[in-house]
Amino acid sequence: MDRGPALQALLPAELAALAGIELVDARRLVSCIHNRGGLPARCPPTIRRVALDAVRRAGELPTLEVIERRASELDPFVKYAFRTPDGREVETVRIPLEKPGRFSICVSSQIGCALGCAFCATGQMGLQRNLETWEIVEQLRLVRAELPEGTRAHGVVFQGMGEPLANLERVLAAIRVFSEPSAQSIDRRNITVCTAGLPAGILRLAREAPDVRLGLSLGDVREGRREGLMPIERAHPLSEVLDAVAEHARTTRSAPMWAYTMLAGINDDDDAAHALAATLREFTDRVGVRPRLSLIPWNRVEGTPFERSADEALAAFRVALRERGVGSIVRYSGGSDVDAACGQLARSQPLSQLGRGRLHQ
Ligand code: SF4
Repeated sequence: MDRGPALQALLPAELAALAGIELVDARRLVSCIHNRGGLPARCPPTIRRVALDAVRRAGELPTLEVIERRASELDPFVKYAFRTPDGREVETVRIPLEKPGRFSICVSSQIGCALGCAFCATGQMGLQRNLETWEIVEQLRLVRAELPEGTRAHGVVFQGMGEPLANLERVLAAIRVFSEPSAQSIDRRNITVCTAGLPAGILRLAREAPDVRLGLSLGDVREGRREGLMPIERAHPLSEVLDAVAEHARTTRSAPMWAYTMLAGINDDDDAAHALAATLREFTDRVGVRPRLSLIPWNRVEGTPFERSADEALAAFRVALRERGVGSIVRYSGGSDVDAACGQLARSQPLSQLGRGRLHQ
């Protein structure tokens, strides 16, 4: 049975056209959907009854079933598991920001992922399917509805399950809803799309969503090494990806975030730091924009051969970078006791049985 369009995925102008109502009513109804939990049962005085009825007839408000919400005991992360209408499972993480009362919501864009990064739990699942626009939007809508009073969703990061640039059409549509003032009203500069490196998608993101930030997962920058961690290197070598990232930076004038997942004995020695520093400096000199470098201590993923870099190795790596003129931040990756940390989202089992899973790194 055709359920009709999912109303939470529509902008006011789209809703107005679909239902044949005035834009002012559409805006108010979009606001009801996103900020008051759904369409009102009775028509409030600000909205015409005929408009509400028309919207009810025009589409549906499907939702995701919350099957688990787990608060970390180590830190104030909350990991959500949702079930889609076709019985699949997807994960979302609420991440507290440094400034109290603000959260970033880490959303998934696919169920599983085809890119198969060796250090990532989602990558071990393979791709099950793309998420629909409404399924991406709904993750934020549901998590935001449960925020403690007086707090707010400050940003969104596409760093959950899946490669967002492989589902870009829907990701762009979701970004439009996220940033629409009458819907989720998230400042686009606080939305980050993280990719393992799909050049065409990076260029399209620069054209169609230039004020959204770009994150790039590196794994390793040394020739012959990156491929072992990130098979996408075979299709799109890092040099090609960095050309696209350079074009993105020139077009948007915003600095990309480079994410470097630290793996003991694999990419955390002096040689790796040297190569990373050289790559970053070459990029900065060539493009005139300096990437922000985030080092991510790897979180254990069951069934993979990796180990997390020791704290001493991480500190030495940072010193080696600094000696070559490159600053870095260590991304605090919390929630590891509920598999909410980077690299740990994988809904192959219930959270209660999940040993150590996977987030897009
Ligand atoms: S790190 Fe990202 S792109 Fe790589 S397998 Fe995991 S979800 Fe996919």
